[in-house]
Amino acid sequence: MQNNTIPKSAVYIALGSNLDNPIAQLQSAVRALDTLPDTQVTAVSAFYRSKPLGPQDQPDFINAVAALETALLPLDLLDHLQHIEQQQGRVRLRRWGERTLDLDILLYGELIIESERLSVPHYDMANREFVIVPLYEISPQLRLPNGEKLANLADKLKPHHMEIVAI
Ligand code: ATP
Ligand code: MG
Ligand code: MG
Repeated sequence: MQNNTIPKSAVYIALGSNLDNPIAQLQSAVRALDTLPDTQVTAVSAFYRSKPLGPQDQPDFINAVAALETALLPLDLLDHLQHIEQQQGRVRLRRWGERTLDLDILLYGELIIESERLSVPHYDMANREFVIVPLYEISPQLRLPNGEKLANLADKLKPHHMEIVAI
């Protein structure tokens, strides 16, 4: 008997934009994620306005987190994310600078990955309210691969300083 079911992993993606209509950039990115092979978007957070990390002489960001179920392997997923960034006109000007779209893999199931191109969980997610707050919104029961409760990370970042701009 043939089994056509591909095992899928729960993956969380951070989305960010502060150029060329950021809300439309994030909406377009969510549509692109949903059309990746063997992938479904299962949840999307509200869109939040946040202050930039790093250089302050740039527009505020719009940030969100999307949950996926995907059979893509981590590096294949990264390739697809970087392709979507390119399709939406991403140009690298300076570290933590302005961009039309940033797509970062926050979590890939329970995996811990340390390779040249990919660190999962994302190395700085615990310190970023524009990541933790939307992630907590869509997955309040989540634990990180090290067992830490997302709820604890969310508590540490309270009160947060972002407003919701779109749902
Ligand atoms: P930060 O990672 O601090 O949020 P950034 O998102 O602006 O910064 P990018 O320029 O988008 O950084 O990516 C730089 C490199 O980070 C990519 O080429 C990619 O290989 C690598 N990378 C490592 N781990 C991840 C991850 N979890 N998600 C996405 N890219 C990652
Ligand atoms: Mg980033
Ligand atoms: Mg990135």
